[in-house]
Amino acid sequence: MKINVTRSSMPSYEEYCEEIKSIWDNHWLTNCGPKHNLLEEKLAEYLGVKKVTLFTNGHLALETAIAAFDFPKGSEVITTPFTFVSTTNAIVRNGLVPVFCDINEKDYTIDVTKIEALITEKTVAIVPVHVYGNICDVEEIDRIAKKHNLKVIYDAAHAFGVRYKGKGICNWGDASMLSFHATKIFNTIEGGAICYNNPSLEAKFKSMKNFGLVGEEECEYCGGNAKMNEFQACMGLCNLKHVDKYISDRKRAFELYVKRLINTKGIILLNKQSDVLNNYAYFPVRFDGYKYTRDEIKDKLAKHDIAARKYFYPCTNEFKCMSAYANKTPIAHNVAKNILCLPLYHELSDEEINLICDIILK
Ligand SMILES: *Cc1c(COP(=O)(O)O)cnc(C)c1O
Repeated sequence: MKINVTRSSMPSYEEYCEEIKSIWDNHWLTNCGPKHNLLEEKLAEYLGVKKVTLFTNGHLALETAIAAFDFPKGSEVITTPFTFVSTTNAIVRNGLVPVFCDINEKDYTIDVTKIEALITEKTVAIVPVHVYGNICDVEEIDRIAKKHNLKVIYDAAHAFGVRYKGKGICNWGDASMLSFHATKIFNTIEGGAICYNNPSLEAKFKSMKNFGLVGEEECEYCGGNAKMNEFQACMGLCNLKHVDKYISDRKRAFELYVKRLINTKGIILLNKQSDVLNNYAYFPVRFDGYKYTRDEIKDKLAKHDIAARKYFYPCTNEFKCMSAYANKTPIAHNVAKNILCLPLYHELSDEEINLICDIILK
């Protein structure tokens, strides 16, 4: 049996069929129907934020969140290269210039001590990324942003359900993007959202995901189409009922990995962050001075039909399409060279985890 790096969470077939049944009564398939609206409400409650606006995927949620602030073209946005390429693309596709800040080795998020040196008169925003469910130093980012009058838009794709000091993580910054892609902890097949506390942003976000239309005869913004449909929303409504169980099952898997791999020379695990309620989204392992390299371990696992993923690798500022913006981020490059995400999903069994650890340790 092949072990994949992840396995999408699904409700039972019967449960999903029950949820989609009413769609055959109202024939309302998309355009902010009742399922879509109910999911927005339920997510705001679950995540502990004032507002959630759903999107057809996380990328377009982030791209739209950035676009909504109308930054002048060519403005600079401080961000991290240790992320999925979506983050950087969302900045560049808005006609903005990504300025890459290095990460810290402790939790792989943006190094807040290096942000201020990168601020120029062209800087308009910071787009930090919560990585693997580890959160950024949100308080320090908040302080810097207020001091320099910058917007903060978080890529929180990895941070669904994470809480900091008892509060939902999406309460920080002007807006946070979540991804509900099939591979994420909580999925709507494809899907995403912008979470925010300022209700005056709502009308704009809603309009911009629907071509920029306001009413039937007026187009206020040059928007695209990024609406979540009713079938996606139904998958979300079902998965949301089980997400606490998905997370507690991941915690079990995560803790067994830690028990097996901790205190192994040359294997570096994620550090626990204080005051953070984690979501156990990923299990990244860094090989630094271990008897095998990251690539050798990946190959050994592959020989046993176990798929681990070099995630994130390479850094986004190493991609060809970003060559115009590449500046040096040595820590991010070093981490990306040595990191490997091991399989982690709620149905992963203890036997499978033990097998994976045996192969790594042997
Ligand atoms: C998944 C992911 C995205 C993109 O989300 P989609 O829903 O796949 O569009 C963006 N950033 C990060 C860090 C991600 O992991």
